[in-house]
Amino acid sequence: RIAYVNGQYVRHSEAAVHVEDRGFQFADGVYEVCEVRHGMIVDLTRHLSRLDRSLSELRMAAPMSRAALTFVIREVLRRNRVKNGIFYMQVTRGAARRDHYFPAEGTPPTITITAKSTDPSAAAKKYANGIKVITLPENRWDRVDIKTVGLLPNVLAKQQAKEAGAQDAIFIDRDGIVMEGASSNVWIVTPDGELVTRPAEHGILKGITRTTLIDVAKKLGLKVVEREFKTEEMLAAREVFFTSATGICVPIVEIDGKPVANGHPGTVSSSIRDTFFDVAEKTAI
Ligand code: PLP
Repeated sequence: RIAYVNGQYVRHSEAAVHVEDRGFQFADGVYEVCEVRHGMIVDLTRHLSRLDRSLSELRMAAPMSRAALTFVIREVLRRNRVKNGIFYMQVTRGAARRDHYFPAEGTPPTITITAKSTDPSAAAKKYANGIKVITLPENRWDRVDIKTVGLLPNVLAKQQAKEAGAQDAIFIDRDGIVMEGASSNVWIVTPDGELVTRPAEHGILKGITRTTLIDVAKKLGLKVVEREFKTEEMLAAREVFFTSATGICVPIVEIDGKPVANGHPGTVSSSIRDTFFDVAEKTAI
């Protein structure tokens, strides 16, 4: 495998950044994960736009032009012969002697890109029966709208889910309002057949898959409502599912040990999954 590190394509096993990298010391960096299907990058434009937003919210400059970044991404995918899989890119404020203040102007950012192949049929099988989740109190900072590499609460939440015999966790705020998963957005299908997800202006990461799914729903003639909902409403829903770039649309069949509806994935999530790639933007490698 090959990774891109600051202008060079290096062997993945030897790819490294400096010990004083601010991503390593302060989680002072941002990232994106994109899906690749049938040799096509899914929703690249939206992911690059979100990267720009994350960088600007942290007052970091873009490491290179969008055209150059797209070129490097394609090159990493080609060198790793990825036809189906993901790539991960991370930009940090660079390496400098440890000091909370921003480093001196002109300190180059650190940019790394890795890619790996995945088996889409294995993923489909993995999600065919849906997943189990637990709910946990929201304990993250209030700028989770920025896709930073500071993911410790998410890491602890997922590990807690795993140790409880579930696969994932959903953060619930103090008022009982459903926020999002540890690495995904949450959707419900109400008993009336409405597709509901919470507003993404603050309090959650505005998922790219979430945005594209709104387009998918339109194509399927489904009504999407962006409003807050509480744990009880989620537990009484006809369907509950996650969206994320890597899972696309993952049915949730059990929450805190209680089944969702009849405990099997629903038809809305599966028709969304079947239509998603037709609607999403596809960029050839
Ligand atoms: N919410 C969180 C906290 C995430 O980490 C992610 C993805 O990693 C998402 C939502 C889903 O975003 P996207 O659809 O862009 O992958």
